[in-house]
Amino acid sequence: MSNLYQVFLDHFDLSRPLLLDATGQMLATYGELEQRSAQFANALTHLGLKPGDRVAVQTAKSIEALYLYCGCLRAGLIYLPLNTAYGAQELSHFLEDATPSLLVVDPACADDHAAQPILVLTMDRFGAGGLTDLAQDCPSSHSVEPRAPDDIAVIVYTSGTTGLPKGAMISHRNLISNAQTLTSAWGWTQADVMLHTLPIFHVHGLFVGLHLPLLSGCAIIFQPAFDAAAARKAIPYATVFMGVPTYYTRLLSQGIDQNDCEGMRLFISGSAPLLAQTFKDWHASTGTVILERYGMSETGMNTANPLTGARKPGTVGPPLPGVECLVVNEADEVLPVGETGNLWVRGPNVFQGYWQNAEKTAESFSPDGYFKTGDLAVIDEDGYISIVGRSKDLIITGGLNVYPKEIELVLDAIDGVLESAVIGLPHPDFGESVCAVIVPLPEVDLATEFIFDQIKTRLANFKTPKKIFFLQSLPRNTMGKVQKNQLRAQFSDAAHNL
Ligand code: AMP
Repeated sequence: MSNLYQVFLDHFDLSRPLLLDATGQMLATYGELEQRSAQFANALTHLGLKPGDRVAVQTAKSIEALYLYCGCLRAGLIYLPLNTAYGAQELSHFLEDATPSLLVVDPACADDHAAQPILVLTMDRFGAGGLTDLAQDCPSSHSVEPRAPDDIAVIVYTSGTTGLPKGAMISHRNLISNAQTLTSAWGWTQADVMLHTLPIFHVHGLFVGLHLPLLSGCAIIFQPAFDAAAARKAIPYATVFMGVPTYYTRLLSQGIDQNDCEGMRLFISGSAPLLAQTFKDWHASTGTVILERYGMSETGMNTANPLTGARKPGTVGPPLPGVECLVVNEADEVLPVGETGNLWVRGPNVFQGYWQNAEKTAESFSPDGYFKTGDLAVIDEDGYISIVGRSKDLIITGGLNVYPKEIELVLDAIDGVLESAVIGLPHPDFGESVCAVIVPLPEVDLATEFIFDQIKTRLANFKTPKKIFFLQSLPRNTMGKVQKNQLRAQFSDAAHNL
């Protein structure tokens, strides 16, 4: 039996607390998760969904969303989490590509999806709405659907700089192996209390942030979103916290100190580079050392600084047990220690390929099964890896990924725009901020306000450029490729004013 939910269930003590409020008071037990997820599994089955069908979910973070996720797993359905910032237009691609049987949305968004040619049900943060109500009336037991190890549990949409977002197919085995590896590597026990403030539409909050507590059977303080003041208040009741680097800089701005962190055994950072300065400031303020790890949608976690032993700032640590990492040059030759190149990874955590995209899948793997991450890295003499850049020019702003091509396509469609290039410029709070360089058509005078006006309904807030620059032409190499490094260098001074 390779169903991830069954692996969780084997570790549940049904009487123990699953969810706590910010002061450690119990909100729900593991027994309630078992019953409520069974109700959701029954509701989905009654709607006619069969194992292997997709369920797309774009809802605010809530306990019901957690029950729904577990309900999908136990019914053998494929869960498809969607960023809550995506608008109806952006959603269309995911729905056309993944052809889910059901889309679950927040009530406030229901009208936006009225025209979707699939079943749409609502569910809100406070446990009301169509699907929750349906589940409420269903029996509270449901068997766990047997799954083969390579059966798909979740499809996570990710994107390169070219083309449309691709659905990464993550199997039950991928998720089980990564959860088991991390639970053991980071010493999780039933006595832990996880402070969960990450979104659950992304691998960080959904897989790392939830699977490790569920596998160890510990309690979770489940906050609807990251709020530095609320997180600081809850930290004294927790033992483990996970965040993107921005969370740590915000907690530092809140004045977090050693007293707040007395009961904490582990602070984990990932999804974007943690500045060595933040690592040092955090240690100076709290007396604790952040453990930085590295992963991605397609692979789950690949490397991590150790629980015991040196955690080196600016590195993401050595490969996790069972994961192999190589740094190769453009000719695919393995590079020695100290040389920067393309990072490849192989292991039971690596995904099954891109949904209905055999061509991209084939391109993304080496002949001997390594996944080409698209990240640039260097390995030091102790085997610690540093991620030194992203070969695909992905922008990470506040821990969220922004793919320049997607924004460039929107900008290029505006009247009077000849072409555009979107780059990330350093930002003290967000890590990077999205900036656009626009080339107007000859003799057209474009105003910044006009551009902002055109894009505001077409792009989620976090993807909207914070600054727009105008140029007569974009710098290109002899192969015709836009030289984004040059643009970043040219405009980096302007970044200080963002
Ligand atoms: P995602 O698929 O959204 O999880 O994004 C994965 C990308 O985030 C990776 O390919 C890296 O470029 C980046 N990333 C994740 N963790 C780290 C880290 N600790 N340091 C630097 N980059 C990271």
